[in-house]
Amino acid sequence: MTNIIKNNLEIINRRIAAAALRSGRRPEDITLVAVSKVHPTSAIREAYEAGQRHFGENYAQELKDKHEMLSDLVNIKWHFIGHLQRNKAKIVATTNAVVETVDSVRLADTLDRAAENEGQRLPVMIQVNVGREHQKSGTTTEALPALLDRVERFEHLRLTGLMTIPPYDLDSDETRKYFESLRDLRDANGGVVRLPHLSMGMSHDFEAAIEEGATHVRVGTAIFGRRPLRR
Ligand SMILES: *Cc1c(COP(=O)(O)O)cnc(C)c1O
Repeated sequence: MTNIIKNNLEIINRRIAAAALRSGRRPEDITLVAVSKVHPTSAIREAYEAGQRHFGENYAQELKDKHEMLSDLVNIKWHFIGHLQRNKAKIVATTNAVVETVDSVRLADTLDRAAENEGQRLPVMIQVNVGREHQKSGTTTEALPALLDRVERFEHLRLTGLMTIPPYDLDSDETRKYFESLRDLRDANGGVVRLPHLSMGMSHDFEAAIEEGATHVRVGTAIFGRRPLRR
């Protein structure tokens, strides 16, 4: 067996630690979410054996299937990072994943009821469309304060922070501005006490994200290689 995934994880973890130290932060305060969408469970097992615990998935049914197939992995933690349709909220709630992409009161309400049925309190983040892209999900900056207030009131949800996916093919200085924007939004809306987590940064820009305050980086390609086409 080759050790590509293990080696990639070592490299990424070293880069995360360096970026954290550069910006006066502790490496252990950054959580690496290994984005395993479309990759087989064998790849996830390999990463798990190398010590990786947090995994990110984009599709509800795929998350559920992998959650079941990998139920023997102790302390594995799932993050749902795709666009969530309300009719899939139930499926996601059964996995007790952190839902990073809540962007409306209606979705939060559906998730709250699904979590209640599961007897769970689901951790959630609010996805913010900092780049104001039409095709992208996420709440607007303007709607964020009210959404935070509403989400906090659901008994079966636990608000943990903010998440963003900035516009893709910009140079890194441009991307950094979006990371700063998310951090500024966090600071303007209760700070780390209310919103301890900031999920931002992917394979090509996670170091800049950490320098701007990310607590969670979502890295797929740099760990698992290029994604196979989905069906
Ligand atoms: C796929 C995906 C990632 C990982 O992207 P890579 O470029 O492969 O690291 C991160 N975040 C979200 C929301 C994704 O959909």
